[in-house]
Amino acid sequence: MLNNDDPTVCKVARRSLLLDLSKRKVPYAADGEPSFLGFRKKPSGKLDTRAMGFGVRSDWPDLNDLCSKNNIQLNWAHTGGEQVNISQGQIMDPNVYVEASIHHNGTSERLNSRTCRYEILQYFQAQQRDYWVNLRLQGKLACLQSADHTVSHSALQNSAVNEDILKFVIKARLQTLPTKYNLSLWFPKHHEPFCLLHSDKIMESTAHILNGCPAFKGLYIARHDRIVNITAQELRKVSGQGAIHTNKTVKTSWFLNLNDNTNSLRSVLREYPNTPDIEVIDELSKNILILEVGCCFDLYVDLCFSEKMLKYQALSNALAVCGYRTKLIILIFGSLGYVHRLCVRGLRIAGLSKKISKQTARYCSVSAIIGSLHVWRRQCHLYP
Ligand SMILES: [Zn+2]
Repeated sequence: MLNNDDPTVCKVARRSLLLDLSKRKVPYAADGEPSFLGFRKKPSGKLDTRAMGFGVRSDWPDLNDLCSKNNIQLNWAHTGGEQVNISQGQIMDPNVYVEASIHHNGTSERLNSRTCRYEILQYFQAQQRDYWVNLRLQGKLACLQSADHTVSHSALQNSAVNEDILKFVIKARLQTLPTKYNLSLWFPKHHEPFCLLHSDKIMESTAHILNGCPAFKGLYIARHDRIVNITAQELRKVSGQGAIHTNKTVKTSWFLNLNDNTNSLRSVLREYPNTPDIEVIDELSKNILILEVGCCFDLYVDLCFSEKMLKYQALSNALAVCGYRTKLIILIFGSLGYVHRLCVRGLRIAGLSKKISKQTARYCSVSAIIGSLHVWRRQCHLYP
């Protein structure tokens, strides 16, 4: 309002400021003193008012409090760049305008009047992000770079997901589940950080329980296989029943159009990994899709992606030598529902539409979380 394009609005706002602060008997600030629009502030950041409550509420002291709280400084400046010596005449001068700047980590940044709302919001978001990322535990999963955030948070948005699952995933992502490792941080006198299921001392962190403890291997496999089944079910709708093999060792008899170079394929099948999660064979176009699904701890989705990529490289090359075109598609889901950023694209390459790809990724993300909740519940059972 003090900078409003309409001169009348501008004039009224400035008169209101002058009237209010003179009634409150706030003196002008001298050079170097903390000020709000040229009026003196106390060290506490409040206006240095000399007349306590003259019975009228106004927004000016509130505006000052708001600015103090958010490290925003308001000053008068002259359009011609001249020095502004604060006085009633100067405040009413149309060539004088208000300039806002935000202070952060010892630096000060001028705010643009048109974009200031956005800039202030960005500043607070950055501050919050720094806070989370610098926390010793929680920050690790707060903003995962390698995840596709459009499909990773469906468990939080889907009203069909029940409250137990929701509570579990939020606590686990914020690393506040009462694992032995966390308990030993919170109550160092009473808890040891180690998993009770081993004789050697292994930290019982969220990652260990959800992905690393040999005692839960069966549950990990079940969680992984459910994701494979969901994906295979969608692929069957587009590629037909017969052409899809899931969880089976590849056999040369599957392929009807092999050329004479089958020896190399046979030796690869003996010596290298030979049981991809899903294999789709199209004999007409001689195209083969090899899909591999991974469910690792969310922090390592990128690492898991590169490992899986290498796993079936040999098989893929051997099939190419035999005259087929092969594509390797890697789908990685975190055990807390984060989806790798190339997952949706992978499903699209496999022939699903954009909508169905996203839908499938979301479904698998929630399925992974439910699988992890089963693991966590089993773990809780062990400690009566
Ligand atoms: Zn363990």
